[in-house]
Amino acid sequence: PLDPDADPTDGALSEELFARARRVIPSGVNSPVRAFGSVGGTPPFIDSAAGALLRDVDGREYVDLVGSWGPMILGHANSLVVDAVREAAGRGLSFGAPQPGEVTLAEEVISRIGPVESLRLVNSGTEATMSALRVARAATGRDVIVKFAGCYHGHVDALLAEAGSGVATFAMPGSAGVTASTARDTVVVPYGDRAAIRALFAERGHEIAAVITEAAPANMGVVPPSGGERGDGVGFNRFLAETAHAAGALLITDEVLTGFRASREGYYGIDGAVSGDGAWAPDLMTFGKVIGGGLPVGAFGGRADLMALLAPGGPVYQAGTLSGNPLATAAGLATFAQLDEHAYKAIGRASSTLQQLVADALTAAGVPHVVQTAGTLFSVFFRDAPVRTYADAKAQDTGAFARFFHAMLDAGVYLPPSAFEAWFVSTAHDDETLDRIAEALPGAAKAAA
Ligand code: PLP
Repeated sequence: PLDPDADPTDGALSEELFARARRVIPSGVNSPVRAFGSVGGTPPFIDSAAGALLRDVDGREYVDLVGSWGPMILGHANSLVVDAVREAAGRGLSFGAPQPGEVTLAEEVISRIGPVESLRLVNSGTEATMSALRVARAATGRDVIVKFAGCYHGHVDALLAEAGSGVATFAMPGSAGVTASTARDTVVVPYGDRAAIRALFAERGHEIAAVITEAAPANMGVVPPSGGERGDGVGFNRFLAETAHAAGALLITDEVLTGFRASREGYYGIDGAVSGDGAWAPDLMTFGKVIGGGLPVGAFGGRADLMALLAPGGPVYQAGTLSGNPLATAAGLATFAQLDEHAYKAIGRASSTLQQLVADALTAAGVPHVVQTAGTLFSVFFRDAPVRTYADAKAQDTGAFARFFHAMLDAGVYLPPSAFEAWFVSTAHDDETLDRIAEALPGAAKAAA
């Protein structure tokens, strides 16, 4: 641990660690966006974190708006979560046998999310989406998966496909190392394009196992589905459910990011409640991030008849040495215990205040921008027109974002190092934290102009 009274070392220790890291770890990081590739510069190496603050190895402090990309919804080192993990650790780190926390965590998720009748825990969001696809393919006896351009579902081979030019085009692999046959079984559609979905199902409906979508896309920045949330007509997710079901296919909504963040019931709590009357539901859903409270947990669940296909009762194999790990379930349960209506109100308030502060600063500096929201989740696009698709998101001024990002970092605010990400607030983002951000904003907005 650092001496809290030591003078900041101006980034020298982070530089040194990054140089060492690049010699032994590809690009120096264990997940690509951490490398600051699109904004440039050296990522600060983090020594510790508490509440809304990060402290790097050089002794510099930052208000954190990444929150480990979503899990830290109560802020860092939340005392009840840390105590629960300590207590669990004292009773053993992993058993490879059933333990009570798994049952309680599954019950907690199921109690909040109507369409989930049965749930299995895994160790990441990637495992959750990968396993949900396997169940969908087994249930339907079909191979084709439909996904949307700009939606991210983890680094599953079948889901790394990028947008082709239109529905008729088979997706190209979005990553080297994905086989051509895997890419052929993935069809990519522009987000929100109902006509393209209708045409695709008219032509190939009998081949389609499932449509997978982020419940509200947040990995190209936040792009809420049309309809549902505002109650104006059939929401896009409901449209997908109805179109898929009419063809005997399934709908998988991915709530790894939005789950228990966009609202107490995730995005489904917003979308399902308003656009439907209980008449629509996804068949399978995926979760991660918040449900592990900062430790590695993912989950997939849904209709009991589909989940019953899993081994050992059914023919779909899926397993995990550390799945349902007692430390992870303890962290998840201690997190859920604090996520009541009061917590969501606090997050909602902090989120709205921050959106307004950012919009005011960028407007004052004459920087084109759009703030988009999905429940308490939001992101800022550096362009002047609404973003509805991945193509829109890519038309941002990423140079302006990079200048803004670095000015904020220099002023002690750690934003997601990419223009295509949500900004994450927590219950620890109190007025004092927001004031620190407010002080940093005008200078950063000027730098972006
Ligand atoms: N699905 C969504 C919507 C996500 O945002 C992510 C991660 O950001 C994943 C899946 C993959 O989760 P993980 O990184 O835990 O594998």
